[in-house]
Amino acid sequence: MKPPPFQYHRPSTVEEALAVLDDAGHDGKVLAGGQSLVPLLNMRLAAPAHLVDVNRLAELAYVRTDAEAVRVGAVARHAEVEHDADAHGAVPLLRQALTDLAHPTIRNRGTVVGSLVHADPAGELPAVLALLGGTMELAAAGGRRTVPADGFFVGPLESALRPGELATEAVFPRPPARSGSAWREVARRHGDYALCGVGVLVTLDEDRRVAAARAACISVGPTPVVVDLAEAVGGRPHDAADWAAAGALAAARVDPEDDIHASAAYRRHLAGVLTARAGRAAAEQAAQQAQGEAR
Ligand SMILES: Cc1cc2nc3c(=O)[nH]c(=O)nc-3n(C[C@H](O)[C@H](O)[C@H](O)COP(=O)(O)OP(=O)(O)OC[C@H]3O[C@@H](n4cnc5c(N)ncnc54)[C@H](O)[C@@H]3O)c2cc1C
Repeated sequence: MKPPPFQYHRPSTVEEALAVLDDAGHDGKVLAGGQSLVPLLNMRLAAPAHLVDVNRLAELAYVRTDAEAVRVGAVARHAEVEHDADAHGAVPLLRQALTDLAHPTIRNRGTVVGSLVHADPAGELPAVLALLGGTMELAAAGGRRTVPADGFFVGPLESALRPGELATEAVFPRPPARSGSAWREVARRHGDYALCGVGVLVTLDEDRRVAAARAACISVGPTPVVVDLAEAVGGRPHDAADWAAAGALAAARVDPEDDIHASAAYRRHLAGVLTARAGRAAAEQAAQQAQGEAR
């Protein structure tokens, strides 16, 4: 099928883009990598009167790592973040999750910010942002605002972005010292959307005991489900924590539904198994990190 007719805009500055989006209001849509939007247009599941192509906004084509965070501009592709050594050093969870996101060709074109705005409950990046406690930078003709991840993902394919707004940047904070992370997912074929995926972030104290542990699970609820695992593993030595108990805790907290791809019971089971596996791997990485930092 072909998309319904629309007016195509290709601004070359953010200011120009915001003016077009402001004029278009509810009838406008941003076009970034097009990996989700173009199929929706072709299937006529979306019919915006104005498409605002942001790919020429050179000022938003960046991946920057500083002392606090990795900052990803709206035009940075998944692959650029995946292969950025500084970003990987600061927030390893980004590359850990991105290698499971779709296929390399899609990662060459799709954008990190586009994925976040798209807010697919099966998407990896909303869970990464939620787990790290990251934020989204949003701009409109009338001003700018910062929205934390826990207020940004409001439902399946629904974010807090308002008509006329452009998401300019996603901010992924560096985890604290002595932290480790891991991503585990199960999909029917590599590159497909996950039947369930889990990211875990573990932070150790100076005695290498678990000071904090959280999981973020995808494809088991309308938005990423963040579970505090401290009840199961908090205070335990990193190599003696009961990750099976952490998995059971996560499985009890998610609320998946049956669909054509998998039963709710199977997804719940996966949430438990993947949390346990990711937790163990994250704790191991945190211990290595602690050893490196102590040298
Ligand atoms: C075969 C296939 C497999 C895939 N598998 C996965 C997967 O496993 N995991 C996964 O997470 N994704 C997957 N995707 C989706 C892919 O990651 C997309 O890149 C991503 O969902 C959207 O990014 P985009 O830049 O292509 O956004 P677009 O498709 O251009 O836009 C998506 C939505 O976000 C809005 N938007 C985009 N950028 C902005 C912005 N800066 N400001 C405001 N609104 C904006 C658009 O208006 C639109 O509503 C898959 C896609 C395909 C085709």
